Amino acid sequence: MPSLFTKIIRREIPAKIVYETDRVIAFHDISPMAKVHILIVPKQETATINDFNESSASVMADCFLAAKQIAQDFGIAESGYRVVMNCNGDAGQTVFHVHLHLLGGEPLGGFA
Ligand code: 5GP
Repeated sequence: MPSLFTKIIRREIPAKIVYETDRVIAFHDISPMAKVHILIVPKQETATINDFNESSASVMADCFLAAKQIAQDFGIAESGYRVVMNCNGDAGQTVFHVHLHLLGGEPLGGFA
């Protein structure tokens, strides 16, 4: 079964896409937890951080470069932002296709 995010990548489910390369896509989170809340997703499906190997994990460099670019595009690079990645149940991962959350646009408070 393709993940929810693979369906977005394939345009089978709509999303507000803000960034795309051949390896990475980024779109607005459907339930934003901050004024800016963007999901940055490798196009190659990997369920969790635990499933990465040296080869598949290399795409995370692309994801961080995407985060840097998107933060600039949304005007939050200097005010600040948070990048979060959840893994499995205790972290609250709900979509099992690895992704970065990029949060910002307002003071985010303490990390919890
Ligand atoms: P996780 O909890 O796995 O770290 O993050 C999954 C994120 O995907 C959540 O913040 C959730 O709001 C978001 N999400 C779930 N379904 C959809 C959807 O259909 N479209 C978009 N754009 N985001 C979604």
